[in-house]
Amino acid sequence: MTTIKLHNTRTRGKEVLNPINPDDVRLYLCGPTVYDRAHLGNARPVVVFDVLYRLLRHVYGTDHVTYARNFTDVDDKINATALARKEAGAPGTLEELVQERTEETISWYLADMAELGALEPDHMPRATAYIPQMIAMIEELIAKGHAYADGAGHVLFSVKSYKDYGALSGRSVDDMIAGARVEVADNKRDPMDFVLWKPSTDELPGWDSPWGRGRPGWHIECSAMSHELFGDSFDIHGGGNDLMFPHHENEIAQSCCAHPEGDFAKIWLHNEMLQVEGKKMSKSLGNFFTVRDLLDQGYPGEVIRLVFLQTHYRKPMDWTDKKAKEAEATLRRWRALTTGINPAPTASVAVIDALSDDLNTAGALAELHKLASAETAADLLTSARLLGLLTDKMGTWSQGENHDLSHHEKSLFDARQVAIETKDFAEVDRLKTALIAAGVEVRMSKTGVELVPGPSFDASKLDAI
Ligand SMILES: [Zn+2]
Repeated sequence: MTTIKLHNTRTRGKEVLNPINPDDVRLYLCGPTVYDRAHLGNARPVVVFDVLYRLLRHVYGTDHVTYARNFTDVDDKINATALARKEAGAPGTLEELVQERTEETISWYLADMAELGALEPDHMPRATAYIPQMIAMIEELIAKGHAYADGAGHVLFSVKSYKDYGALSGRSVDDMIAGARVEVADNKRDPMDFVLWKPSTDELPGWDSPWGRGRPGWHIECSAMSHELFGDSFDIHGGGNDLMFPHHENEIAQSCCAHPEGDFAKIWLHNEMLQVEGKKMSKSLGNFFTVRDLLDQGYPGEVIRLVFLQTHYRKPMDWTDKKAKEAEATLRRWRALTTGINPAPTASVAVIDALSDDLNTAGALAELHKLASAETAADLLTSARLLGLLTDKMGTWSQGENHDLSHHEKSLFDARQVAIETKDFAEVDRLKTALIAAGVEVRMSKTGVELVPGPSFDASKLDAI
């Protein structure tokens, strides 16, 4: 069987993956807080874990891998969006508006990630469906002396009660206090203590608990949901680097203190952040965009996916327009080469080896480039599909390639010949505008007209011309 090695943040080295149960390899990824569209950076862990999920399914069998990614559907940011809607005159109670917002955001998220070729996880638990499990875990933590209620509706985790706190990110508690903006509050026994439960007002979402009507803190969600789905120990836990502290440190503290008989997650995988044209993505720099923004601008999901895979997940990734153009050209070439070809029975060993070496997607793509010749097109197709590329579903954007535009080329050419005589270019302009609106690039020269379908080509818009 293929040996998979992964870089474990906790041990700071590459480790062989030895699943607890090879018949059920379990991985958990921290999912989004559903208050708005996913930005490009949010999509990186999704694509990274999708490749890992595909690799594990390839090695252990499709039915022997379980992937869970949660939705955080209770959060102050969601409440704030709902409140803004209510103040703008939207009908319904605040609680109904919260639910409307989360439902809408979840459907956007699933649609956007599907465009990037990400398979849906086996479990997509929503925090609000696991409140009893969270309350039970908090009670357990209090009983074991790791958490305390402040008498005013809050429950806090006592960081000092867990000696290994900080082991994942390799920082001491003192360093963390110095480096993070730790909220000092009267109800905390120690500044590092974090919230497990907090009170809710009557209008905001809330649940009855031994500490009054309230709602959970963010960190307890993942501990409670992963425990419910996977038990005391599972194989791989992932997320972006930005989640390592405090979110993942807190998850470990909660889970290991509530269930000391287990290991919680054995391997921790963290992806580096994403930049745009060499700069950190930010609203103030004007380079902030969502996955949907890019799709709407005509970048196909498959192109975005290929750009992502060019950089190893542990390195910062730079999204550039140049890379997207090159990726599009590569995919057009590969798709042309594999049209009408039957896929090879198995993916190339070199591609599998690259992926098994800590998800070396850049190395795997280098192997695909080697396979991109007429003789090995069948291998290219199967191996690319292991990476979620060159699938039929992902290829609709390139279908304009084969669309016959000669009739429109002739119409435009003839209209121009007439216009040269009459000096009336209205018809030429009308045709050009309509073709561009259909996503066609119009190239006119003295000798003829060439029409090239672009990434946003939509053949149905040609009917109206
Ligand atoms: Zn989490």
